[in-house]
Amino acid sequence: MTSRTLLVTGGAGFIGSALVRHLIANTPHRVVNVDKLTYAGHVESLGEALESPRHHLERIDIADGDAIEKVFAQYQPDAVLHLAAETHVDRSIDGPAEFLRTNVQGTFVLLEAARRYWDSLSGAPWEEFRFLHVSTDEVYGSLGAQGRFREDSRYDPRSPYSASKASADHFAKAYHHTFDLPVIVTNCSNNYGPYQFPEKLIPLATLRATAGEPIPVYGRGENVRDWLHVDDHVSGLLEVLEGGRPGETYNIGGDSERTNLQVVKTICEALDELAPSDKPYFELITFVEDRPGHDLRYAIDAGKIRNELGWAPRRTFEAALRETVEWYLENREWCEAVTQGTAYRLERLGQREKE
Ligand code: NAD
Repeated sequence: MTSRTLLVTGGAGFIGSALVRHLIANTPHRVVNVDKLTYAGHVESLGEALESPRHHLERIDIADGDAIEKVFAQYQPDAVLHLAAETHVDRSIDGPAEFLRTNVQGTFVLLEAARRYWDSLSGAPWEEFRFLHVSTDEVYGSLGAQGRFREDSRYDPRSPYSASKASADHFAKAYHHTFDLPVIVTNCSNNYGPYQFPEKLIPLATLRATAGEPIPVYGRGENVRDWLHVDDHVSGLLEVLEGGRPGETYNIGGDSERTNLQVVKTICEALDELAPSDKPYFELITFVEDRPGHDLRYAIDAGKIRNELGWAPRRTFEAALRETVEWYLENREWCEAVTQGTAYRLERLGQREKE
């Protein structure tokens, strides 16, 4: 494998750090990690990659056009993998403006910088350049009991988060159609695994349960998500980077639909074994008022990436979820380090106040 320079945005976040750790440990590539280090981005998530001479951390806001131009000029990347975003739906209810700024304006700034840089290239670097825009299945809206999202499903975003990601996807696709920039878009289902900021369901439920705190489950816990382990997402992204066709979209999903209640019960069962308490953990499950506008069901048809690129998830949900729970139990220092200095105290966010 020849060494390339990959510009990864959001490489200190949950999925980005899994990608960076993998690239540094298993490939010869040089990684330029552009990350603002918001409450969700932490150098503690980078492990040994942080010390590697092939890893360059640039603490930059992707919406800062001058700084982004300089990064392209300095590092001359062979490809961009764009993951930086505001990602928590509940926070997008409390404060949507930052989602517009980072997810839409930030993506636009990156696309503009990439376009100017790509125009300056020639030969193989020009032909082989790729801009991989990483997005979510939430752009497709909510499913009923039947059906799965395909690449040609209609966009129907419903939260400020998904609206901002949908807008960014449209800009990314427009830069391919209008300027021929070799953009590829991926839309992935819910990820789980180590190093996820503990505001999201799986680490939140694990940490609250082991602290003996109620585990909040929205509504009746009936919302369905299609879960994919973060390392399977990373392998999907790299397959798409290598073999995906510019201008195309690839859906990435785990074929693991579970209700939120099933997920939380599985976590409780794992905890009963791994960290036994005097009462079964499921007794801590507490139903709370639903998230405003909560989408009922997401599910991905990943047939295209499977058939075209031969990708398939390697992990099964229940076994990998148990390993994930174990990771959070064994890595309390990381959990404390990433919540320290932020205002977040494992509480519920995104409860819309009625005026
Ligand atoms: P995350 O919230 O864990 O990390 C986001 C990272 O982006 C952080 O390191 C943060 O510091 C950085 N960032 C935020 N604003 C920035 C800015 N203005 N400039 C530079 N860096 C900034 O997110 P994640 O869960 O790792 O998600 C990564 C990407 O994958 C996002 O684009 C998200 O929409 C997408 N995605 C996530 C999931 C999921 O289940 N987590 C599923 C599908 C798609």
